[in-house]
Amino acid sequence: MACCGKKAADLRKVIQGLLDDYEQHVGGMRVMRDSCKVCACKHISQARALLLEMNKGYPEHYWFAMGHLAEAEDELMKEFPELGGKVREERLKLEQDKKYWIPFADLIIAIDPPESK
Ligand SMILES: [Zn+2]
Repeated sequence: MACCGKKAADLRKVIQGLLDDYEQHVGGMRVMRDSCKVCACKHISQARALLLEMNKGYPEHYWFAMGHLAEAEDELMKEFPELGGKVREERLKLEQDKKYWIPFADLIIAIDPPESK
């Protein structure tokens, strides 16, 4: 499936990817999106921004943040399950306690260490 728009330029590849996913699903296999650390970091960053908004008086943003954290997990699970698990652990802590503050910088650094550039 397309990620960061890199594959979207070739519509045939996008359609073939969707057809492949469908065949896997019909065949009873788990369909997982291709992993993308960039997208995972974007979702985690968006979750942080939404939780800050929640704290400013927008309680519904809690659920928007939870959705972004779940998306970040999905972005990592196929190729980096240990990192997806870390995001999941933090999301579950937030689910148990809405006031829990996720160590966002630690998560981002775990996914995209400075020495990886
Ligand atoms: Zn991406």
